[in-house]
Amino acid sequence: MNSTFKGKYDLIVIGGGVSGTHAAYAAGRMGIKVLLIEQFGFLGGSLTAMGVGPMMTFHNRAGRQLIFGSPQEMIERLINIGASPGHIIDGTGYCSTVTPFDAEGLKLVLDDMLVEAGVDVLFHSRLIDVKLSNGSINSIIIHNKGGVQEYEGKIFIDASGDSELVKNCKVPFSIGRKEDGKSQPLTMNVKIGNVNSSQFREYIKNNWDQFDDKIRREEKSDILEKISRISMWGLYDLWEKAKKNGEVTIPRDNVLFFETNTEGEYIFNTSRILGVDIFDGISLSKAEMLGRKQAREIYKFLLKYVPGFENASLLSTAPHIGIRESRHPIAKYVISSHDLTSEYHFENPIAVGGYPIDIHSPDGESTHSVHLKEDGMYYIPVDSILTNEIDNLILSGRSIGADHYASAAIRVTPIAMSIGQGAGILAAISVKRQSLPSEIDYKYLREELQTQEVYLGE
Ligand SMILES: Cc1cc2nc3c(=O)[nH]c(=O)nc-3n(C[C@H](O)[C@H](O)[C@H](O)COP(=O)(O)OP(=O)(O)OC[C@H]3O[C@@H](n4cnc5c(N)ncnc54)[C@H](O)[C@@H]3O)c2cc1C
Repeated sequence: MNSTFKGKYDLIVIGGGVSGTHAAYAAGRMGIKVLLIEQFGFLGGSLTAMGVGPMMTFHNRAGRQLIFGSPQEMIERLINIGASPGHIIDGTGYCSTVTPFDAEGLKLVLDDMLVEAGVDVLFHSRLIDVKLSNGSINSIIIHNKGGVQEYEGKIFIDASGDSELVKNCKVPFSIGRKEDGKSQPLTMNVKIGNVNSSQFREYIKNNWDQFDDKIRREEKSDILEKISRISMWGLYDLWEKAKKNGEVTIPRDNVLFFETNTEGEYIFNTSRILGVDIFDGISLSKAEMLGRKQAREIYKFLLKYVPGFENASLLSTAPHIGIRESRHPIAKYVISSHDLTSEYHFENPIAVGGYPIDIHSPDGESTHSVHLKEDGMYYIPVDSILTNEIDNLILSGRSIGADHYASAAIRVTPIAMSIGQGAGILAAISVKRQSLPSEIDYKYLREELQTQEVYLGE
């Protein structure tokens, strides 16, 4: 394929989701020359393109904050421009906190961070190929309206969420769970606005049996007083009734929703599309259409059945259907669910996390969770972001070396961002020391992670 050579960088990051953005930010601030490639025209990935929210969670179950560094700095920037209330109690009781935000504010904050760090950003550009020699990436090939272009780099980070660089480099990967290769379902997130939240709160207060209480540790009535934004799941009977009436066809046993930064505006993370092959264009396109149909069903259900939604409006469906799970690269180390639940203390963590294993069933209506113990946390080792095959490739975000079960925990945004910061720091140290990422003595990495306020446990 003929391509136009466009330039050379120390680090090239594929994917401008939160993980890629934090990787580029960390590396750019350390003074190396960074290029970030993103297929859409904005940063934020799933949080902006797939309509996901809130960020969940910076804390463990006991309420101890585990994620700091540039993700926490980003939250402070969001608070400063009025685009987030910060970390608030999770009304579902699933986690101790959630962090609502305004997606438009997030786009701006992430732009600012990369501009300040001197990162060159290439929007509307898609990775399509790589040039390899002797187990290293020499250059990447991208396509945009200007045609096919080539960029050379020293280190490359795959933060594409779908392991696009991994696939192009022919690094092995697995798909779905071991038993049958099935992945978590897709969800079309839908934003509903103009909700009368006081009326809705009143309804919740008077119908607590309709909202989940199995894992809530505080008195239900207290929760509503304490949360500035509502997050809940339930509406069981109304949902069942609508299903029986044929008004709802979504294969899910409850309604899950989160108020955003804007009071009266909610994200419904409720649609469910099973059995999609995300690597097949036709299958994915059908899922987008079905997702929009399901979003309409959810909206009409709310209008008809739920107090407070009488004048609600359907603000938007996500620009891209939500994909929770994609390729799982076979990294130098593949994290298992046992590593997380046993809180195995790897000696070389790049990040830590406390979010439970959260699997939306690949087969049907339910959601399966495994929580850590109250003050638990797990460690993400450096080897899970390096591969055996390509020596200048670093993995980041939701698609690192983690199996179906482990990735169902580490995929959430605070952890994805923290992994991104670690990946960016490792890349910058490698460039500065003129060494491969796998050759970097962990003591240098730990020192810089701590300088950049990453918490790594005691
Ligand atoms: C329905 C749903 C609900 C969720 N709920 C929550 C939640 O409540 N809280 C939470 O914290 N997390 C939640 N998550 C998980 C979380 O949103 C993601 O796992 C996380 O955002 C992943 O971030 P990332 O940067 O690793 O990847 P992504 O956000 O997927 O970013 C990858 C980026 O790479 C770009 N890209 C991909 N391929 C190419 C290419 N070839 N060339 C150029 N660019 C490319 C994409 O456009 C994208 O911007 C949810 C996810 C889904 C789908």
